[in-house]
Amino acid sequence: MSRLDGLLARLRKFYGALPAPPADPFTLFVWEVLSVHSVPRKRDAALGALKRIRALTPDAMWRAPQKKLEESVTLAGPYVEQRMRALRTGVDLFRRSPQITAVIKGPAPAALKALKPFPQMGEGGAYRMLLFAGGHAVLPVDARVSRTAARLGYGEQHADFKKTARSIRIAVSAQLPETIAAYRLAYLLLSHHGAATCTEGDPHCSVCPLLEECPEGQKRLQSAD
Ligand code: SF4
Repeated sequence: MSRLDGLLARLRKFYGALPAPPADPFTLFVWEVLSVHSVPRKRDAALGALKRIRALTPDAMWRAPQKKLEESVTLAGPYVEQRMRALRTGVDLFRRSPQITAVIKGPAPAALKALKPFPQMGEGGAYRMLLFAGGHAVLPVDARVSRTAARLGYGEQHADFKKTARSIRIAVSAQLPETIAAYRLAYLLLSHHGAATCTEGDPHCSVCPLLEECPEGQKRLQSAD
């Protein structure tokens, strides 16, 4: 068992089962758009409303009455106009490229390239698409994963976030089994930990189940003494 396996096992015990992002590529794209500047509860309410009006395919969203779409999207919080614009662009891209689902499941470099034009996706979103909808064993590195992994001693910090993300992916991959399930679990736990406990300004190290093995937590503990 690697050090990372042990850390993840503790997080799993601490948090229990965590919900995963949708596995359908279009629904995951919508989930990404609704997630920006939102919180899980509001995002899920908006996604649920879109599901109820049966708008969760590119063609169905294209045909759906704008008023109903907007009412659903509003549940995610502010930035309704930006979300609606992003959804329109995404719907258009999905409808013009029906092969996108197959591309996402194909070789990773081509899949990442095909996802570049999608709005509000970014590198973290593209890797989430590969992991949860494409069945690739890759680690999406967003701000939460990056923060948690770095504090635990994985990867190096660079001025360019893409470089930081790459170094974290390499360091984490060296200690993870090469299975999609292992990568999905690692992402869910590290990301949730970054949101719930290992927060940016004031990490809750005193209640963290990883404190004993965390260099950053130990440093903070000593400076508090
Ligand atoms: S001990 Fe503190 S810094 Fe380390 S992982 Fe836990 S919350 Fe984050």
